[in-house]
Amino acid sequence: MNKTIAVIRGDGIGPEIVNEAIKVLEVVAKKYGHSFSYVDADMGGCAIDKYGDPLPQSELDKCLAADSVLLGAVGGPKWDSVPGNMRPEKGLLRIRAGMGVYSNNRPAKIWPQLAAASPLKPEIVEKGIDFIIVRELIGGIYFGDHKTFDENGEKTSEDVMKYSESEIERIGRIGFETARKRRKKLCSVEKSNVLDTSRLWKSVMHRLAGEYPDVELSDMLVDNCAMQIVKNPAQFDVIVTENMFGDILSDEASMITGSIGMIPSSSLGATSNGLYEPIHGSAPDIAGQDTANPIGTILSAAMMLRFSFDMPKEADDIEEAVGKVLSEGYRTGDIIGGGEGLKLTKCSEMGSLIAEAVKNSR
Ligand code: NAD
Repeated sequence: MNKTIAVIRGDGIGPEIVNEAIKVLEVVAKKYGHSFSYVDADMGGCAIDKYGDPLPQSELDKCLAADSVLLGAVGGPKWDSVPGNMRPEKGLLRIRAGMGVYSNNRPAKIWPQLAAASPLKPEIVEKGIDFIIVRELIGGIYFGDHKTFDENGEKTSEDVMKYSESEIERIGRIGFETARKRRKKLCSVEKSNVLDTSRLWKSVMHRLAGEYPDVELSDMLVDNCAMQIVKNPAQFDVIVTENMFGDILSDEASMITGSIGMIPSSSLGATSNGLYEPIHGSAPDIAGQDTANPIGTILSAAMMLRFSFDMPKEADDIEEAVGKVLSEGYRTGDIIGGGEGLKLTKCSEMGSLIAEAVKNSR
């Protein structure tokens, strides 16, 4: 199969981790007789420096024309003082909206090899952590109107949170469909004791439940969910929630699995052209040191093969290779804690080890 992948390396550790994912994809291509071609696209701080715009139309067009997009991360202190609508992160919002990828899928799964790296007590981790957060990605407060104005003699700001029934329904369906393929438990997370958007969210979810009698639907307030994720994560199978709640809860969920550097994500809309990225940011504190964990990005590439390219065996190979390398004791700095005889591994070395394991797997 021939596939074109738009590659956004971005800022900070972005180029380092994306290069490792490409290293692994190239081994997959060789092993299975595929051909992947890569088209570089600029987004984030590097695009601001080059074009004065975090995502020029020309770069978005490259992404829309490709079969899928692999993204590292954007942002950093260098661009912290640029105006809000020109910040690197605006590029992220624009690419998600431009590609129409409304469903962000973030697995929170603990690798048994990393149990000691979880900040949770062993008795909680032993019960298992394996759930998915399905986050609405192109609506809600991040996409509402934002303004700052003078009121009663002082600066005042306003951010609008808005959801329509159809926006909720399309992500709700992804939640039910995802649960249907797993343990058939869907938890809808909102703040219906306070917010109108949440009350609408809840009513749509309950209407949809009638069409999915095989899936057990429950409701949870977002503040309670934040507690339950650390108290009893084993209760969750699939969580479906709106944009901002999903952003925050998925970072929390990533930490209990050991490190934010381990977690991939896929963002999909109505077509197979998806956006694949690790859930972490550009980690400016460790950029350029070859110490970042590339596994979240490598696993994002595996999700791309599985969900956009229909290459499940190839995706399995990558996931198994990650497990093998972790079992052999190789660890980047963020996941080294808590184990005996582990081998501190550079970002580039981790990518090479995983690529080699893919090559040698049957
Ligand atoms: P961050 O995720 O970049 O970093 C948080 C902490 O996790 C840091 O200590 C960092 O070193 C560590 N970390 C993150 N990824 C890691 C990896 N792969 N390996 C090892 N350690 C890792 O979050 P932040 O510090 O809040 O944000 C930094 C910048 O990234 C900001 O400009 C922010 O706006 C941006 N950001 C971008 C995205 C994105 O591109 N999708 C997402 C979140 C934040």
